[in-house]
Amino acid sequence: MWGYEMQKICFPLFMLFVFETVAVTLWLTMDNLFYLFNFSYIGISISVGLFLFIKNYKHARRVVQLLVGIYMLVYLGLICNENMQIEGFWYYLFTGVFEAATIHYAVAKIFGPIIFGRGWCGYACWTAMLLDFLPYRTPSAPRRKLGWIRYFVFAGALAFVAALFLARVGNLEKIMFWSFIIGNVLYYAVGIAMAFAFRDNRAFCKYICPITVFLKPMSYFSLIRVKCDKDKCVSCGICRSVCPMDVDMMDVSRTRKNATECILCMECVRHCPKDAL
Ligand code: SF4
Ligand code: SF4
Ligand code: SF4
Repeated sequence: MWGYEMQKICFPLFMLFVFETVAVTLWLTMDNLFYLFNFSYIGISISVGLFLFIKNYKHARRVVQLLVGIYMLVYLGLICNENMQIEGFWYYLFTGVFEAATIHYAVAKIFGPIIFGRGWCGYACWTAMLLDFLPYRTPSAPRRKLGWIRYFVFAGALAFVAALFLARVGNLEKIMFWSFIIGNVLYYAVGIAMAFAFRDNRAFCKYICPITVFLKPMSYFSLIRVKCDKDKCVSCGICRSVCPMDVDMMDVSRTRKNATECILCMECVRHCPKDAL
């Protein structure tokens, strides 16, 4: 029992270690103290949230969402003028600048998901931070076949930035700043409208969000996964009914239904009456 408790306490420390490793590596290799501050802050926020979760604090995930989401949106986006939307990623990639937005994508959305899956979506995304406050926490209807829309949004963002470069438009920094603001307003407007239309807070994540084009395939290989202990499970189906992302938790395989949709929110774990997850 004590060993199990220790294992649980070690998990936040492990996550802190992962983020501190990234923080120190980037600080030293890029010779920029910002990376030490940035990734330490995010790592500490996530570890605090995990610790609160272990202590059964109901709103642990919300605490992390607010700590990280507001920091990214307000400090990095609005104050530091870093476009962290997908257009910003293409913009910095085209200019060859390996700076905050590119590193953010590499860590949170491209390579990080191999370790922590779609933890970004559960704990850090500022779009979902707001959507999760809406009234439809669990979807009331089966998922629709609209996931193809995300590829159009993804291609649209790429085409927008490519067109700016091809047309040699000037003052790109300013355009990127405004596209960050307008993009976020649009995401929030569409996300809120869809949540009410589909009675599902995460409808935007399921059908529209272009970031999932990176997140889904990478999170397939995620080291950190919620698994079902078949010996304890009594097939009551509660885990499925509380999952905001329609994941079939009773199947332990990586190919389970909506496997790459899991945002590690731990609602299924909290509600399982048999501690099977
Ligand atoms: S799917 Fe997109 S909008 Fe939803 S939480 Fe993930 S990154 Fe944010
Ligand atoms: S909630 Fe627990 S016991 Fe019920 S089906 Fe899911 S894993 Fe099995
Ligand atoms: S409820 Fe469970 S399966 Fe569903 S997203 Fe949250 S952690 Fe993943």
